[in-house]
Amino acid sequence: MDILLIGAPGAGKGTQAEKLSQLLALRHIASGDLFHKAFEDQTELGLKARSYVDLGELVPDEITIPMVIRHIEEPESVQGVVLDGFPRTLAQAQALNEELGRLTRQIDLAIHLKVSREELLQRLSGRYFCQANQHVYHTKFRPPKVADRCDVDGSKLYQRPDDAGEAMRRRLVIYFNQTTQVLDYYREQRKLRVVDGNQSIDQVQNMLMNEINDYMSREAKA
Ligand SMILES: [Zn+2]
Repeated sequence: MDILLIGAPGAGKGTQAEKLSQLLALRHIASGDLFHKAFEDQTELGLKARSYVDLGELVPDEITIPMVIRHIEEPESVQGVVLDGFPRTLAQAQALNEELGRLTRQIDLAIHLKVSREELLQRLSGRYFCQANQHVYHTKFRPPKVADRCDVDGSKLYQRPDDAGEAMRRRLVIYFNQTTQVLDYYREQRKLRVVDGNQSIDQVQNMLMNEINDYMSREAKA
């Protein structure tokens, strides 16, 4: 089963995708993590991607598409994947469809985690990551036990440059502009489900599982 989560930066996609991948034994592929890892490894694609991310701009398709597809083709992805942060554009959605088709796979469900703009601004501006493993914290919703330190590994917390100020606002504008077409694409294929992402992490998790279970029981009957 291949699932994708569509949601704005700050919608909680990463957290939810991680939980889903554990519950369903699917591989979690987050485009943001791929960019970050490629940057840490100092690969050419990674360095290029970083320059866009820091400005709050969308990483171009010619960098993003090959990076994600390569991971979908790996043996660890054979049971299925939960895609998070990809596809962001119609071109990416079409390229993904083509590549999955080549592997005789397809996106089974595209789930839109819908969160209001006001809520997103509030969530993003308080978000921090740990330097060692990118664990996510929030000054208000999920504060660390010790200030500025990760609960899990003790590494220092930092704010991503694109989570603050003008870069963050630009990121949201780009997101809303691009996503309409992606949502339409999956709606036309009757694969789109919408979940209210303004709720708590657990509530959202339950709603996501309801949608997935509903899909699976329909498939079993078909
Ligand atoms: Zn950590």
